[in-house]
Amino acid sequence: MEKIIVAATKNRHKIREIEAITSEFGMSIISRDEAGVPDIEVVEDGETFEENSYKKAYEIMKLCGRVTIADDSGLVVDCLDGAPGVYSARFAGIDGDDDANNRKLTELIKDVPYEERTARFVSVITMVFPDGDTVVARGEVEGHLLTEARGREGFGYDPLFVPAGYDRTFGELDPGIKNSISHRANALKELRRKLLNREGIKR
Ligand code: IMP
Repeated sequence: MEKIIVAATKNRHKIREIEAITSEFGMSIISRDEAGVPDIEVVEDGETFEENSYKKAYEIMKLCGRVTIADDSGLVVDCLDGAPGVYSARFAGIDGDDDANNRKLTELIKDVPYEERTARFVSVITMVFPDGDTVVARGEVEGHLLTEARGREGFGYDPLFVPAGYDRTFGELDPGIKNSISHRANALKELRRKLLNREGIKR
């Protein structure tokens, strides 16, 4: 089993969270730059997290010829019929503008009672091997949304999201706690389970 994995994402927060978990079983993550991948933008035009995650991993694997991992993730809000979903990064128009996305989200949910402001983060992690072999894992974390941001940890919608069983947002919680209960953590646990079954990797 390859121990050096190329991260298809350029999001440093995501890479850090992925590495915090994959390092546990001896895999290190290198960036696209380090793998010599040209600076191309993979167009995320899929309708599901699964489609976008596979596309990102496959296209980068093709460019570097090494095992590649991709995460496609987002926030699914029940009272908004699942929005922003796969459009989470560009909800307010500009890709990756977290403040604008949070402002748009709070504006849309400000009159919805707390009990109805249920939401979940979803992460689909895909690992693609140079022979085309693919392992896909999905993870979710349930919670409620606030209408005012709280905390500076994490990224994206973290300051608005209170995971079930906690009274602080992902923006306030210690990153170690987020990394143990998050959608990405759950997807990586599932990935790990699948890799262990497939390859008999020892921790
Ligand atoms: P992607 O890079 O296309 O997968 O977009 C992911 C987007 O979903 C991010 O830009 C955030 O807006 C949101 N998102 C995904 N994971 C998280 C998280 O762990 N915390 C907060 N927001 C997240």
